[in-house]
Amino acid sequence: MAIKYSNKINKIRTFALSLVFIGILIMYIGIFFRGNAIIMTISMIIGFLAVISSTVVYFFIGMLSTRAVPVQCPSCDKHTKVLGRVDACMHCNQPLTVDKDLEGLDFDENYNRKSSKT
Ligand SMILES: [Zn+2]
Repeated sequence: MAIKYSNKINKIRTFALSLVFIGILIMYIGIFFRGNAIIMTISMIIGFLAVISSTVVYFFIGMLSTRAVPVQCPSCDKHTKVLGRVDACMHCNQPLTVDKDLEGLDFDENYNRKSSKT
C-alpha cells in the first residue's frame, strides 16, 4: 500500500490542535501590525475564530467518539476506536473493519461513503 492510513479520530484531533497553533500564530502576527488598526483587528478576529473553531472541532470529536466502535486491535492488542466501516488503529495504523463483508479486502476509504453501500 502506497498511502499510509491513520485513525480518523487521531486525524481530526491533529487538525484541531493545529488550528489552535494557527490561530495563535495569526494573532501573534497581528501584534506586528500595531500601527495599522485595521490589519491588527482583522488578524485578531481571524486568529480568535481559528481558536474558537478548534473548540468546535474538539466538541465534534467528542460526539464522534460516542458513535465509534471500541475494538481491540489484532495487531498490537491495544484498544482503539473504529469510526465508520473501515478505519485504522490509533496505535499502529493497522487497517481495521467492523463490517464482516469487507474482511480481507484491501483497505479503502471509499467503503465509508454511503454510495458504495450497494
Ligand atoms: Zn494496533
